[in-house]
Amino acid sequence: MVPPFCPRPGCVHHLAPTEQSWYERDGYHETSAFGRVARFRCKTCGRNFSTQTFRVDYYAKKVVDYREFEGLLASSMSGRALGRHFGLSPDSVQNRVDRLSRQVLAIHSHLRSLADPREPVAIDGFQSFDRSRFFPNNITISVAGDSRFLLEATHASLRRSGSMTARQKARREVLERTVTYEPRAVERSFAELLDQIARDRPPRGGQPLVLVTDLKKEYTSALETHALGSFGKGMVARVLVSSRKPRTGWNPLFPVNYWDRELRKDQSAYRRKTSCHARNASNGMARFWCYARYHNYRKRYLIGSHIDDRRKHADVAGILKEARFGLEGLFYQARAFFSRSSLSTAGMKAWLKLYPTPGTDWIGRVPAYALD
Ligand SMILES: [Zn+2]
Repeated sequence: MVPPFCPRPGCVHHLAPTEQSWYERDGYHETSAFGRVARFRCKTCGRNFSTQTFRVDYYAKKVVDYREFEGLLASSMSGRALGRHFGLSPDSVQNRVDRLSRQVLAIHSHLRSLADPREPVAIDGFQSFDRSRFFPNNITISVAGDSRFLLEATHASLRRSGSMTARQKARREVLERTVTYEPRAVERSFAELLDQIARDRPPRGGQPLVLVTDLKKEYTSALETHALGSFGKGMVARVLVSSRKPRTGWNPLFPVNYWDRELRKDQSAYRRKTSCHARNASNGMARFWCYARYHNYRKRYLIGSHIDDRRKHADVAGILKEARFGLEGLFYQARAFFSRSSLSTAGMKAWLKLYPTPGTDWIGRVPAYALD
């Protein structure tokens, strides 16, 4: 194997080697999971590395079939059930989810910038919870019109509201002694989604941006203070739809309503009255992204269409097959690097596991190699 680049982020050979003989061979070492592994050394920065450094299974002690893992994860299998199927501990299951989610964030960041920017973008919040029902969350998602291709997602923890019994109110009071809630979390979430739209599909002459949202006033104030809000009405149009309108295919919010249904149906953590909910917000978002990649790039666009219609949501979103296949061939094998992935704000938060879980000071564990 020829090493493709130097794994040290600051090295001149990191993004692309600047000369052919930038590395030298440095023998081999034996591993129980992967057999004999070739070692190398960068002649410029002195970094030692091996063929394993570039594999998605770097530092893993057990090999799993990631394609199968992803398929089962996207088909409502819970973490414990995945552990039993693959012979992994709960921590090892999460470790594989994290690895897969970083692959997803890297490839999706690149491919979604190639989607046809003319489709309208529907944005709304998906409600679930972390830890317990006392800690509801809001996963704001943006989905491209007819293709139902998920563009971006981010997470916010909200204070539990709505009707509660006196006992539930007392319980909430006790739990909230250790919790501080992020102010204006819904505005911040919406602004992060706008950031990705502004970067990858900015409005230009003859190509206005159409945003479809419900009437939340948080969205209005976030748009007013965002760079996209300074464009004139002819460049950025916001279609407002009451969330009380019937959730049919004719509703302009259908793309996000569709994702709402799919997530509830396909993810054990999002089922109603489930015991499989997320215990940690960042771990929950890692699972979310694995599902999003499966849905965008592997699942058929229309289940009811002709059997020969193999289009995926990404195809309908206008991402050319050549662009996809070049990257997807490496998806389950070649490790994505943080420094080489053009991540969005929300993408970075998911990769670095920066979504806090209410009532804990534990954000998420990210191994040192995942920061390269
Ligand atoms: Zn180097």
